[in-house]
Amino acid sequence: MSYDTSNIFARILRGEIPNDTVAENAHALAFRDIRPQAPVHVLVIPKGAYVSYDDFAANASDDEIVGFHRLVAQVAQSEGLSLADGSQGFRAITNAGAHGVQEVPHFHMHLLGGRPLGRMLQ
Ligand code: C5P
Repeated sequence: MSYDTSNIFARILRGEIPNDTVAENAHALAFRDIRPQAPVHVLVIPKGAYVSYDDFAANASDDEIVGFHRLVAQVAQSEGLSLADGSQGFRAITNAGAHGVQEVPHFHMHLLGGRPLGRMLQ
């Protein structure tokens, strides 16, 4: 699947649409989901053009991959979700493609926490 430069997260990265930024670094941006599913619901996206997790994992540079994951960890800590700080935990998930029910075709990780989230897989 080729990258659609008109997707909403590409537009956020270009500054065409406002967002509630939580943190960013050279390679990734974290912002609050507009339809939060938990007290904390932050999306972390790479600044590069990657459609989905498999695209990102296969094609991003090592610096981009490390930068992305470091921002996830930074946000988990700043949002009070870090296990190292004694939190009750969190969920980090990414949806991919039609079966994964991915709405926005720019790779993003959902970071959810602040309440018990229930079982995902039986
Ligand atoms: O993983 P999936 O693609 O289904 O999720 C996309 C997420 O992006 C949704 O949770 C939606 O609320 C969020 N979103 C957003 N800001 C937008 C458009 C979508 O936070 N402008």
